Amino acid sequence: MNKALIVNIYIEHPIMQLNSTFSYYYQDKRKIERGMRVKVDFNGQRIVGFVDSTFEVGDLEKYQLQLGYQLKPIEEVIDREPIINDELYDLGLWMSRQTISPIISCFQSMLPSTLKPVSSAKRAVMENWVKIINKEVKQMYGFEDDEVLLKDFKEKVSDYHYRKLKNHGHIEVEKKEKRIEVEKFKVYDAPYNLTKQQKQAIETINNTNNNVILLHGLTGSGKTEIYLQLAKQACLKDKQVLVLVPEISLTSQMVNRFKDRFNSIAIYHSGLSAQEKYQQYTLVKEGKVKIVVGTRSAIFMPFKDIGLIVLDEEHDSSYKQDSTPKYNTRDIAIKRSETHNCKLILGSATPTLESYARAIKDVYKLVTLDKRINQDLPKSYLVDMSKEIRKGNYIISSPLLKAIEERLEKKQQVILLLNRRGYTPIVKCSSCSYVVMCPHCDVALSYHKDDDKLVCHVCGYSQSNDLTCPKCANKMWRNYGVGTQRLTEEIQKLFPQARIVRMDADSTRKKDAHSKILNSFEKQKYDILIGTQMISKGLDFPNVTLVGIFNADGPLHRTDYRSVETTFDLIVQASGRSGRSSNPGEVYVQAYDINHYGIRLAVKQDYITFFNNEMSYRHAGKYPPYTFMAAIMFVGKDDETIKDKAFAASDYFRNDSSIRVLGPSRLLKIKGEYRYRIIIKSKDKKQLIEKLWLWYEAQSINKRQLSVQIDVDPYILD
Ligand code: ADP
Ligand code: ZN
Repeated sequence: MNKALIVNIYIEHPIMQLNSTFSYYYQDKRKIERGMRVKVDFNGQRIVGFVDSTFEVGDLEKYQLQLGYQLKPIEEVIDREPIINDELYDLGLWMSRQTISPIISCFQSMLPSTLKPVSSAKRAVMENWVKIINKEVKQMYGFEDDEVLLKDFKEKVSDYHYRKLKNHGHIEVEKKEKRIEVEKFKVYDAPYNLTKQQKQAIETINNTNNNVILLHGLTGSGKTEIYLQLAKQACLKDKQVLVLVPEISLTSQMVNRFKDRFNSIAIYHSGLSAQEKYQQYTLVKEGKVKIVVGTRSAIFMPFKDIGLIVLDEEHDSSYKQDSTPKYNTRDIAIKRSETHNCKLILGSATPTLESYARAIKDVYKLVTLDKRINQDLPKSYLVDMSKEIRKGNYIISSPLLKAIEERLEKKQQVILLLNRRGYTPIVKCSSCSYVVMCPHCDVALSYHKDDDKLVCHVCGYSQSNDLTCPKCANKMWRNYGVGTQRLTEEIQKLFPQARIVRMDADSTRKKDAHSKILNSFEKQKYDILIGTQMISKGLDFPNVTLVGIFNADGPLHRTDYRSVETTFDLIVQASGRSGRSSNPGEVYVQAYDINHYGIRLAVKQDYITFFNNEMSYRHAGKYPPYTFMAAIMFVGKDDETIKDKAFAASDYFRNDSSIRVLGPSRLLKIKGEYRYRIIIKSKDKKQLIEKLWLWYEAQSINKRQLSVQIDVDPYILD
């Protein structure tokens, strides 16, 4: 008899997009369970898989005879304990179902990169410990514990005595995986009393039976204070708290707010080193950490007992992952709050239309904060740039210029938002108007003056700026448009004495660059902060009393159905950075299309009117939240193959009367690959997903030829 375990595992198939398991046999003694990673041979390649299930067979040969083929062995079990616990395993299956994506990709996206392909143990940092065998040694030197860090031991014991003790076997030295010391949990009180609105909000949240709460509060209305209070309640019940922010640049500020109230906080985001991530992950897994502040991927941390999840700035597009699996963090948060039976707070001054619509229908509990804590909302002015240009003010309007001057005199701070990095977005031949394009994408290259290069903002390709026009052999080039680098230069020319700092994807490449820039701005080492959308959200700088928004209506011209909403959000959020403390604030919004309702209502900070207006457009166009959408993208090197696939798919769905199909439309080429997209809409999300699966499983897709990317509830469609 040749007993064996048959192990079904998920692996990443190198060619096909499949969602089925593969079987291997296992005859070792060591534990093998669902959620552990294993190494196997697949067509001569060694790959990592996740165990889904196991069962025992009495006789392996007989079993293989029945099967009609030979199984291969599991070559190695990577984990000692399941790396994905039961809750997360089920979550992965659910996520795969909801996002129409391979199960394996869902598991992979749950784990920090260190844990993905290789054994976690290899990554751990080791340190030396002294184990005290002879208890008298403890008394003699006043140690409290039986085990002491070697470096602490040597602080009290001379080298000579240390060697003597060791040689006589009174102590032993051993290597151990480095642990982070976790202090005993402490909570500090708020330095002020809660306002009536805040108290009421907390009461409503605690009393509602609904686990999902939409906290709609103006910028600066005290939402974060409510998170802090609820976190305290949860921690005192010995539960864990997860606070999500949309971008790394916001973690440091949120962490600081939490550190004022709680002595130990874990931080988790993509800017951490592999080792740091691994440590934080382990601390959470072992239940040693109560509060985690992090970005999107923190939603998958292996919490034991969650008492509260906060999703701050719930409208933010960063919560949607833009590669497969294209999940929305909000959906995962809702799922986990159900599993842990805990409250989930979706906080925003500009909730997504779908969240607000659900809140007024009582699917979520709506809680509103309609007053700012310290000040009224800032005074906002809309500046008509077509008039300014006639006066020769191409970049900075005269009222904004004057306002900056005033702030500099008063030693107050200024934030200027321009959502476009680089020096200029377009470089044209001065003689024939040839535009320099990316060789891999249908996109113009932007000029970056910092490193004197032309850069593609889509694929990152860059080339030297020293070039000859391929069309007319001319060597003179003209720069069009304004990016953050050029704006910084212009402002510096106008205000030579001003201390200016720039924050965009280029200036924040280095580790911790975000928090360095923001910290020094907060300490008033700079007068003006210039940046892209990364400075528009969440930041709370008391001394900022002026915000200027450049090219505010620029994003309106995108074809995306959500472009008015995202433009509105950007203006309202950026405006909210002004006048948050004792000094009143001002905002200048520079735009061309000054009569657009999205711009006008954003300047007035009138969310409710905007919501009603925009909802009627969505209704007329049959867009979310009135329907559910999915985008199917076909991507590959051969134009014809992809085009055929896209048309076949659109024909397939057009046969179904409950589904509306848009497209196929040909999108811009990116990284040398052609892209076609169809969009399907349905009134019923469950049905939409079922139909997508039916279609998807009937496809035989060779990943080498094309990839099919499905995006259910797409956030951005441009
Ligand atoms: P939001 O998160 O809604 O933007 P915050 O919670 O950051 O608002 O509050 C804005 C400012 O008001 C912060 O500086 C915060 O410290 C302060 N604050 C919040 N609640 C109170 C309160 N009850 N009394 C005094 N100041 C408060
Ligand atoms: Zn490119």
